[in-house]
Amino acid sequence: MPAAPPAVRATYAVPLRTRFRGITVREGVLLRGEAGWGEFSPFWDYDAAESAAWLRAGLEAADEGWPDPVRTSIPVNVTVPAVGPEQAHRIVTASGGCATAKVKVAEPGQSLADEQARLEAVRDALGPDGHIRIDANAAWDLDTALDRLTQLDRAAGGLEYAEQPCPSVDDLAALRRRTHVPIAADESVRRAEDPQAVRRAEAADIVVLKVQPLGGVRACLRLAEEVALPVVVSSALETSVGIAAGLALAAALPNLPYACGLATVHLLERDAVADPLLPDGGAIEVRRPAPTTETLAAVNADDGVTARWDDRLTDVTASLAVIR
Ligand SMILES: [Mg+2]
Repeated sequence: MPAAPPAVRATYAVPLRTRFRGITVREGVLLRGEAGWGEFSPFWDYDAAESAAWLRAGLEAADEGWPDPVRTSIPVNVTVPAVGPEQAHRIVTASGGCATAKVKVAEPGQSLADEQARLEAVRDALGPDGHIRIDANAAWDLDTALDRLTQLDRAAGGLEYAEQPCPSVDDLAALRRRTHVPIAADESVRRAEDPQAVRRAEAADIVVLKVQPLGGVRACLRLAEEVALPVVVSSALETSVGIAAGLALAAALPNLPYACGLATVHLLERDAVADPLLPDGGAIEVRRPAPTTETLAAVNADDGVTARWDDRLTDVTASLAVIR
């Protein structure tokens, strides 16, 4: 691993079309190495030690590239935020043919009725053959999760799975024994000291893997093999440079039974490439678009933001050296 980050790099700052994770502007650094461009864009609530995995992923893309793909196209889900039913319906209809919808639930301030109305609208837009999954982002305790899964499964006309309904692995395991709705682990894998705990506790039917927080495509492939559960590859809300790494993972997995959460570039007002990785017919083609001088100029961060990221990159590079 190099002592210094790649000299050829570009810091970007792009407004989000809707507020997400409490942020309105997405920022990060694009790194150019011998193998191509990589993205390093940990959210600011990740410290240097936790951001080291994100940098490993960016350096893997820039310096090594990725394993060979076994498929050329990745089915993706449309993401429906905690919006009203009419808007939810419109989002699904305008999704570029996605047959799977991931619906956010457990939004603070919203009621069960709000969620039921959203799910009914999504089912109406998708039709009976579509798949609906929900993501509660670890918001429920066990009893609430049991109650909500029953009600929301009914409102949705059947749920494909529920993502991270409860925070703890023990509660996921207990819930899984008491519901027929399959359980997917996201936060329990991504920010856990021990991602294997989910497997040992038989706490999930599916794992959600994200390339940057888990340290790169190869690290995710190893983890997928170890947990021996079906994988859904999701984004960390990156530009198309980072999404390409997610596509590379999804393309290299031996099996890919579920649609992935990689259709997120449209949530950014602008992208770092001229031909963004967006779905067509419910799938994204496996490819790796490269930024140009012009496209980088269009997303370029100002001097203050660039200086903050230069400092951060120095700190995280140092912590990477320590971790090794
Ligand atoms: Mg999630």
